Amino acid sequence: MKTTRTTCPYCGVGCGVIVQQDAAGAITIKGDELHPANRGRLCSKGTALAETVDHPDRLLYPEINGQRVDWDTASSAVADKFQQVIAEHGPDAVAFYVSGQLLTEDYYVANKLMKGYIGAANIDTNSRLCMASAVAAHKRAFGEDLVPCSYEDLESAELIVLVGSNTAWCHPVLYQRIVAAKAENPALKVVLVDPRRTQTADVADLHLSLKPGSDAYLFNGLLAYLADHKHSANDFFEQHTEGAEAAVQAAREQSGSTAIVSRQCGLSNTKVEQFFALFASTEKVVSVFSQGVNQSSSGADKGNSLINCHLLTGRIGKAGAGPFSFTGQPNAMGGREVGGLANQLAAHRDVDNPEHQQQVQQFWQSPTIANKQGLKAVELFEAMHAGKIKVVWIMATNPAVSLPDSQFVREALSRCECVIVSDCVANNDTLNYANIKLPALTWGERDGTVTNTDRTISRQRPFLPAPGEAKQDWKIIADVAKKMGYVKAFNYKTPAEIFREHAALSWYGNDGKHCFDLGALTTLSPQDYDELPPLQWPVKKSGSDSQSWRSTKRLFSDGKFFTESGRAKFIPIYARPPTSEPSETYPLILNTGRVRDHWHTMTRTGVSPRLSGHKQEAYAEIHPSDAESRGIKNGDLVNIDNELGNVCVRAQISADQQPGCVFVPIHWSNSFANTALVGELIAGITDPISGQPEFKHATVQLSRYPAVWHGFMISRRQLNTTLNTIIHDLHWSVRRVNQVWVYTLTGAEAAPDLEHLARSVLCADSDNVNWAEYLDNAHHTYRGARFNDEALESCIFMSDSSTSLPSHEWLTSLFAQEALAESERRALLTGKSLGVQVDTGKTICACFNVGEKTIQESISSKQLKTTDDIGRCLQAGTNCGSCLPELRELLIPN
Ligand code: SF4
Repeated sequence: MKTTRTTCPYCGVGCGVIVQQDAAGAITIKGDELHPANRGRLCSKGTALAETVDHPDRLLYPEINGQRVDWDTASSAVADKFQQVIAEHGPDAVAFYVSGQLLTEDYYVANKLMKGYIGAANIDTNSRLCMASAVAAHKRAFGEDLVPCSYEDLESAELIVLVGSNTAWCHPVLYQRIVAAKAENPALKVVLVDPRRTQTADVADLHLSLKPGSDAYLFNGLLAYLADHKHSANDFFEQHTEGAEAAVQAAREQSGSTAIVSRQCGLSNTKVEQFFALFASTEKVVSVFSQGVNQSSSGADKGNSLINCHLLTGRIGKAGAGPFSFTGQPNAMGGREVGGLANQLAAHRDVDNPEHQQQVQQFWQSPTIANKQGLKAVELFEAMHAGKIKVVWIMATNPAVSLPDSQFVREALSRCECVIVSDCVANNDTLNYANIKLPALTWGERDGTVTNTDRTISRQRPFLPAPGEAKQDWKIIADVAKKMGYVKAFNYKTPAEIFREHAALSWYGNDGKHCFDLGALTTLSPQDYDELPPLQWPVKKSGSDSQSWRSTKRLFSDGKFFTESGRAKFIPIYARPPTSEPSETYPLILNTGRVRDHWHTMTRTGVSPRLSGHKQEAYAEIHPSDAESRGIKNGDLVNIDNELGNVCVRAQISADQQPGCVFVPIHWSNSFANTALVGELIAGITDPISGQPEFKHATVQLSRYPAVWHGFMISRRQLNTTLNTIIHDLHWSVRRVNQVWVYTLTGAEAAPDLEHLARSVLCADSDNVNWAEYLDNAHHTYRGARFNDEALESCIFMSDSSTSLPSHEWLTSLFAQEALAESERRALLTGKSLGVQVDTGKTICACFNVGEKTIQESISSKQLKTTDDIGRCLQAGTNCGSCLPELRELLIPN
């Protein structure tokens, strides 16, 4: 057994993972009990990591215009293109669009090339989409982008306020820590502030289902209440803060009483009073804020409205107290450290500060330095659309799916003179636009560091060889930089060298002026770097040898902030509503977010059958009254439209949604469904301070999709392109089940020529196909199967009634057989399974693969009363715990 300690590549919790490989290379994964983020826990995504390392569709070799080339040709082509555009149009005509998936070392090298050698600041990151508003709020209040808390504060708090955070699904291990803390200390109260009743409400003592976008009214109201009811920590705010009066005055003017707040937020006065009194009377309060706050046209203000309440009460810099931004991505924080955002320089220095420019340029000994802010994500693609960005290098991200107004973004990519994409996969929505494709390493192969949401730097260590000719991003970038003539500055041999340089820059000329300081790590030996334990920055020296360092658990304990005055700043907030109001044409508010078992655009989690079983298709969560008034039933396909576009997804009717609101998840790209790309409905409206797009708010209309025929197809091969080119006016979505792909098909037009359709999709690649079929024109029923020798290769079933289709479970099981018996072939064409097939329903427990119907049946037949009973009976919920809220819901009698 070979054991590697590394870090999960998914969310910002940054869990430690132990990978064990046997002699045959088989991998098992478990949580690292020594890692302070998770202490051995993992969520369903982390637990399934072993299933996603063997990606079936890797990019293995560099390509130029679809032709394989060697690395020398590829990196020369990239360097030449950048140099040509810079010579003709200047450095502002080129851009990098990078990712919170990059390791800190990759990010550092990309930022150094753009800001110190190209001399522009047009490098922005997809982390702009998840936490830029929190960064702006921190910077305004604390003088630097600083997260004051530590995860341990969740355990020592007496009140945790979760604002715009579906912690149960988006930061599951932290949710489990909160649940465990509450079990340990029943006096701990949890308040959830979210328009939706998400799974996180399961742990909440109070749920404030406020009007979408009204968070700043609530926290302004709280600030006024705290001031009016004499809950200010006078000593603290007089000595360590400034601007309290103006902030309190603004809050009083706008939200000066609970009655006003209850109207502004659409909450009962009782609930508002209950929350305010609880906050006021509890000394140890942690206020978690996440995408529900950040992804707004006033996200930075919302963050500051919440921080103001902590500053007034002095609830910061102490155990169990502070505002706590939960970031989305595994290395969003690392990107912020190295200046991965277009409005930062590096090491928390400001791009528009001449002193900082000089300092960084001196340290790098670089020929130039960016001296003004670059284009933030949405602006960058607008400039590309307008022809101002001539060449873009996209690294480890899929902007054709993840940015707002995806149609516009795709147009921008298609207009760009040269699109370079470094990625580990061979196909995704963005790679369709790439002129140059560069194969990059991914989790399990890469070597470097990431920083999580509580400032803990952890090592990602490799345990797999590099596939094909793939290289780590820092190496790809450094090779291009050297081809551009910057040999000395980019002559790195190891990630340890880059990390030491990054640490040294944070310390250079710092003198305590910047909190971000890795001064103790500037002399790490290669072995120290290999063995680096998780450390929370700032990391100060505490002795003379190279391993004498001191992590910092909590910031601001000394009352020192990093503004010019050394005091924290209150920011007066005048709350404002979201940019669009529901209208007669678009009467509903669209909200977007994540699901439990998928990550981003599903390039990794979408290949795991286990993770694809929980939410099997894209869906829209709709309140029963909105569904009823439109004749929509649970499981119908629904069209959601606005002036930008359309999506068509499965209806999931739920009273957890407010009337007038619809929720659609962000994950499904055109690689997994042809009509589920929710970014099509989101306008490129951003917060004016942070540049973060308003993903949590769009106005839409909703209608039932008039399905007239239904079908599904199971195939060993992916057939997306064939489907899109052969059949029009069809809705399809695909998911991985065992070793096959299961496609759901639905059409609104009169039933097509079924035979022609089936053969076009499944037999188009060969004239000599072993094909068997059954057609009943009178009942619009068709069944077809393709064989490869005796084994089933693919099959298709279509009918005008979804209820007459056979079960997937039985059919997918046939693909596991090397040869089908004659009776099984006959059964296939009659659509009737041999023997009893159990439909276990959608996966609830991904760790033990336990389906909803199995759980429901056991609850009723075995009289199960608690989640512990379910665990004892079926194991469900006994590993990562991510499914516990859903198990509790299943226990509630209908
Ligand atoms: Fe990975 Fe889950 Fe931990 Fe996030 S909570 S880092 S997804 S194991």
